[in-house]
Amino acid sequence: MERKKIEIPEGVKKIESVGEEAEFPFDISPMYEGERIRKKEMYVELGGTEQPGFELVMALPAEEVEDMKVTVVGPDLNEMEEGKAYPYAMIYYVAGSQVETDLEPVIERRNHDFQNYLEGYMHLNQRYDIWIRIGKGAIKKGLNSFVQIAKATMMLFKNELPFIEKIEAVYITDAELVEKLLNEVAMPIFEERDARVEALHDEDVDEFYSCTLCQSFAPTNVCVVSPDRPSLCGAISWFDGRAAARVDPEGPNKAIPKGDIIDPIGGEYSGVNEFAKEESGGEYERVKLHSFFDYPHTSCGCFEVIGFYMPEVDGIGWVHRGYPEPAPNGLPFSTMAGQTGGGKQIAGFLGIGISYFRSKKFIQADGGWYRVVWMPKELKERVAKYIPDDIRDKIATEEDAKTIDELKEFLKKVDHPVVKGVVRPVDGKKITEGWVEEAEEEVEEEVEEAEEVAEQPAVAAQPQVFAPQPGQPLQLPALPQIQIPAQPSAGGGIKLVIKDAKIYIDKIVIRKPEEKKGGK
Ligand code: SF4
Repeated sequence: MERKKIEIPEGVKKIESVGEEAEFPFDISPMYEGERIRKKEMYVELGGTEQPGFELVMALPAEEVEDMKVTVVGPDLNEMEEGKAYPYAMIYYVAGSQVETDLEPVIERRNHDFQNYLEGYMHLNQRYDIWIRIGKGAIKKGLNSFVQIAKATMMLFKNELPFIEKIEAVYITDAELVEKLLNEVAMPIFEERDARVEALHDEDVDEFYSCTLCQSFAPTNVCVVSPDRPSLCGAISWFDGRAAARVDPEGPNKAIPKGDIIDPIGGEYSGVNEFAKEESGGEYERVKLHSFFDYPHTSCGCFEVIGFYMPEVDGIGWVHRGYPEPAPNGLPFSTMAGQTGGGKQIAGFLGIGISYFRSKKFIQADGGWYRVVWMPKELKERVAKYIPDDIRDKIATEEDAKTIDELKEFLKKVDHPVVKGVVRPVDGKKITEGWVEEAEEEVEEEVEEAEEVAEQPAVAAQPQVFAPQPGQPLQLPALPQIQIPAQPSAGGGIKLVIKDAKIYIDKIVIRKPEEKKGGK
């Protein structure tokens, strides 16, 4: 898509400011990076869940960029009503002898960093998901215009990324224009960036690229970006990592020599393992780029989508940031994000970028799309063309199933591969056994017999239809609430209510109790 300055319609209010700002009414420092602005402390919210928003960097010829100029289109900060949410677009035009379109996403991703250096300003997420809050404290200190925010951000861009020789910003709060530019300019550019990498595969290159930007809040997180695995924030592709490593070799994106291939299906490489060990401070030593369960990629917290394993159906669900309802496992995105983030390898949860759904190697070690059982309708529609024809209609959405029981019914009805066992397309190996209902019944009978023999009713074990991965205990989600049934014993029994608990199970052994000597 051609890069050109956006047209500002006649009649829309705008203000312009040229040149550097002498001083700002707020502090600027990396120490504000972790600052959170809660709702009661917030003056206004921009973008987020209630309003559209996006951030976009476009590389332009130097003569077209007016250095340090800011244009604010629509109501400025001092015209906004306290407590309200507004649409928000931040567009930056950048120029420099080394600046090309390859670098746009890398520069764009740093907007998140630099804006979080501003005291009283919180920036979350990226691309079309941006969510900003401005604190009341910053307003009291004198922040009253987006010009101040844009100038501070542009100053940081130029200081930290010296290859940017000129930068100009357009901040937009006019609802109609934000919506129009999101659909007509930003989304096509994001789509173009994501599509670019589709023809290239992991085996075609000698190097992958790292990103350690998010180590500021997830110190052990190391994103490994390969052609078949774009970053989990969705902002960095292999091409972007390569471009960033070239212009800023000491920066957060470094080349990772692949080394020897250890597991071609899981996507494990000796070079990646060595790099991950070093950059995570020894926290983890192995990473498989295309595995959900076995040494999965770490998740920092910026993921666009969370994958979650549902042992009851032996399948994987995916939920995106914008889906507000609980998934069939009973947990909303926000709760699962707490489980998934922090830069850890969590078997059972995985954070990914939406563009990973395009990958030919999408969780291929675990059956790829044939292991996927549920997605919100909006997400499914967005990636529908990447789902193989023979499985697309077998993946449930909230219209088919909102609970595990409904999901089970749906999967049975459509004869989803998880029901009889998933055959992994990449090598034709059957990797799951399917729902072994007869075996389940036998186990239940055995448990019942055991109960009769022991005359001590036990807590009913739920037969699990999955096998924990070798060498790695499966970490199950924190369940909102588990009630262990009352023991109908002579003493009236007890009732245990466990809330917000994490349950770790290495192994479940169900044994029929043997009669003790002497017949007791
Ligand atoms: S999520 Fe990964 S790729 Fe994206 S900014 Fe953070 S560290 Fe970089």
